Amino acid sequence: MPLVTTATLVSDARSRGGGVAAFNVVTLDHAEGIVTGAQRSGRPVILQVSENTVKFHAGRVRPLAAALVALAAEAAVPVSLHLDHVETAELWREAAGAGYSSVMVDGGSLPYEQNVAVTAGARSRLHEQGLAVEAELGYVGGKDSQATSAHAPGVRTDPQQAAEFVGATGVDALAVAVGSSHAMTTQSAELDLDLIAALRDAVPVPLVLHGSSGVPDHTLRAAVDAGIVKVNIGTALNVAYTGALREALAATAKSDPRQPLIAARNAVADTVAHLLDVVG
Ligand SMILES: [Zn+2]
Repeated sequence: MPLVTTATLVSDARSRGGGVAAFNVVTLDHAEGIVTGAQRSGRPVILQVSENTVKFHAGRVRPLAAALVALAAEAAVPVSLHLDHVETAELWREAAGAGYSSVMVDGGSLPYEQNVAVTAGARSRLHEQGLAVEAELGYVGGKDSQATSAHAPGVRTDPQQAAEFVGATGVDALAVAVGSSHAMTTQSAELDLDLIAALRDAVPVPLVLHGSSGVPDHTLRAAVDAGIVKVNIGTALNVAYTGALREALAATAKSDPRQPLIAARNAVADTVAHLLDVVG
């Protein structure tokens, strides 16, 4: 199955009234676990790499991306590559050449006018390179240093403003604030499903939910039914990965890291297969 574009996966999901999950990749073994889980579930998947993860890889975009392209090419399900939460222009300029087909331009924490200006500028350059663009309006809190931001919980995306934003920026997908928050390690977020439906009716492009790890399974399914198309999941995989790794390391005195990493990769695959079944 070849590497496909994120736009294709999102538009396929939208036309069948379902969702497509995008999972955060930190290292290659994360990605291997994600693709294994997707194959088990028989569903397409988006591999997404955040700007923070690029920083973790010494600021280099290409080495991990090259591995993900190769992994996608051999996968038994369609796989696309998405560059997530990009704040620096130097990074999104490298996206297309590295194999990414979509970029999230992260202006969600900016004042409205500034978010429009930054996003519209980036969108025009990214479209020239054939990349799809996701932007955020409303600000989904909880991301790293922004965890204590004044924007944090309670912020909601206004449907009318969202429609204006999409019109003014020309983006292909919109991340909305509807009750979720990044980095939640328990599934306890409450989503405003009526707001999701109102946003779906007001906005012409597919909606994206960030911070989905904190959402209970049945609510996640209901969010897709209400109009969310792309479901971003990161923390749930980190919880699975780190938990399995910690347990496996504690159970052995051997120095070979492969058995513990296999346990971690398997935990990621199990979590992915389950969540893909939820998102449908
Ligand atoms: Zn996010």
